[in-house]
Amino acid sequence: MQNKTRLCPYCNEEISPGALMCKHCHAPLMKKPKPKPPFWCGQYMLGVYSGVLFMILVIYIFNKVF
Ligand SMILES: [Zn+2]
Repeated sequence: MQNKTRLCPYCNEEISPGALMCKHCHAPLMKKPKPKPPFWCGQYMLGVYSGVLFMILVIYIFNKVF
């Protein structure tokens, strides 16, 4: 038996493997869940660098003033 069809996870009816939407219950079927875009990582690193730069600036100003 060949795996030409698969079952809809929502209504358990047979659907074609390449279907993006179930023809029975019209549920959206994702082939592969997209991986999380790592934009938050960049923003986090930007925040860390900004914090470090700010601290260096504060220390520099304190050394100048005092
Ligand atoms: Zn379905």
